[in-house]
Amino acid sequence: MKPVQTPELDALDRAESLIAVIPDYPQPGILFRDIMPLLADAAALRATVEALIAPFAGQYDVVAGIEARGFLLAGAAAMVEGVGLIPIRKAGKLPRPAASVSYALEYGTAEIEAHDDLPHGARVLLLDDVLATGGTIAAARELVERLGGSVAGTAILLELDGLGGRDIAGSDIHAVFHA
Ligand code: AMP
Repeated sequence: MKPVQTPELDALDRAESLIAVIPDYPQPGILFRDIMPLLADAAALRATVEALIAPFAGQYDVVAGIEARGFLLAGAAAMVEGVGLIPIRKAGKLPRPAASVSYALEYGTAEIEAHDDLPHGARVLLLDDVLATGGTIAAARELVERLGGSVAGTAILLELDGLGGRDIAGSDIHAVFHA
């Protein structure tokens, strides 16, 4: 017999099914996970954001979202939790002097930056859409520490298992979905 599910679980199941898989984007051999259809569904978005932050309730003072899709999750999470938000941007886009860290991506290399707007000693919850090789989250952790904050946790919408992301970014990462 099928177990009775709560509406929240139904919404999470639907959320997972709304992640589109795009072959060969942005380059041949990459299976791109597109979360835009999930974001477009109100119940799926709410259930996903709640599932992202639930394990860390009361443990952080600010969320940090990684450009670009991490911004969307961080904005929603900040409003739900009533905390501030630090955007972690790709290099060259910030108007004031910024701390920066370079890292390797699943495809190519990149550099992230953030302004020193973090209250000293702030506990930061890092948020992003996909964990692949783990380089982005490892770099974001370093960036937060360079700014005088401490990483209270890392929450990812979708972890790509088998790419070793946790080995680089930390075994304590919370992922809502796995693929
Ligand atoms: P990584 O540093 O390899 O863990 O890559 C994670 C970052 O790159 C995240 O910010 C993702 O948005 C993006 N990314 C890497 N691989 C994918 C993928 N297959 N589909 C969607 N986004 C990806």
